[in-house]
Amino acid sequence: MTCLLCENELQSRWTDTHGIGNCVNCGLPYRFYHYENDVPVNKPPSLALNETGLVIAKAYWEKHKPHWVFPACFDITSPHDGYFYCGAKEEDVIKFNNWYKNNKKKFSALKQEETAKVKITLAP
Ligand SMILES: [Zn+2]
Repeated sequence: MTCLLCENELQSRWTDTHGIGNCVNCGLPYRFYHYENDVPVNKPPSLALNETGLVIAKAYWEKHKPHWVFPACFDITSPHDGYFYCGAKEEDVIKFNNWYKNNKKKFSALKQEETAKVKITLAP
C-alpha cells in the first residue's frame, strides 16, 4: 500500500495507542486494527484522521517535509531522549504544534466552508 501523503510504500511503526501506527517517512497516522462490535475484523489500513486532518497534513507536508505531520498525536507517553514512542522527534512535535497554532483559523474556516458546501449539496 502506498502512503496517502508521501506516496512511498507504507512502512509503519506503532504508536502507543492500540492498533494505530504511523508512516515512518511522513508520520501520517493509520488505523491497522479494526473492530466491529468489539470483534477484530480484517480490513486494510485506514487513515486515523478525518478529512480535514488530511488537508492539514498535506498543507504542512508541502512546506515542511521531511518533518512529520501530526507527530506523536497518538502517543500518550512522554518523550525519552528527544523521541516519542512512535519515533517522532520532540522538536518536530513543537514545530508542528506551533505551525498549527498559527494556521488554525485558516483550517477552521475551511471546515466551515466544507460543511456549508455539504449542506448546499444536500438541500432539496
Ligand atoms: Zn507517508
